[in-house]
Amino acid sequence: MNTINLLRLNVGFIIHETVGYTRDIPLDLPFIHLPPDLDLENFSGMVRISRAQQGLVVQVQVKGDTTAQCGRCLVDFGQQLSADFTDLYAFTPKLADEFGLVLPENGQLDLAPSIREELLLSFPITPVCRPDCKGLCVVCGENRNEVECGHTQESIDPRLEILKSLKEEPPED
Ligand SMILES: [Zn+2]
Ligand SMILES: [Zn+2]
Repeated sequence: MNTINLLRLNVGFIIHETVGYTRDIPLDLPFIHLPPDLDLENFSGMVRISRAQQGLVVQVQVKGDTTAQCGRCLVDFGQQLSADFTDLYAFTPKLADEFGLVLPENGQLDLAPSIREELLLSFPITPVCRPDCKGLCVVCGENRNEVECGHTQESIDPRLEILKSLKEEPPED
């Protein structure tokens, strides 16, 4: 699936528009691959390109779901990532210091790398499949969202665990 071209925008024509001209590009894709490593489902959002005096203002607001592993129960789930950022592309390299980026001479902007980067920044340090995920049982390893194994939270305390195992040990003969 070659969806990546959708984020490669030909913006050359906007240079010839008057200052203040704005073009909105809606994005709505069931799937997108952002090279090298980010696959997203339900990718949607908006790219707004505005003609400024000395460059183009590119505003990006997108979101999509990637597969992540829950930090508590280890089950894969759809983690929503989002990005909301603005890039400035100067018309000439001279102005690049001010803007940060220079518009490529061919008028083609590939937004995929910056969108990927910004989306990855929104990836949580510990993804959780749902706020009330109960995680894995520390005693038997069952997914406590799915199985009522009967082990109590007290089992988490290692000191209690030792006492319990001492009590349960059969008397030595
Ligand atoms: Zn979970
Ligand atoms: Zn258990």
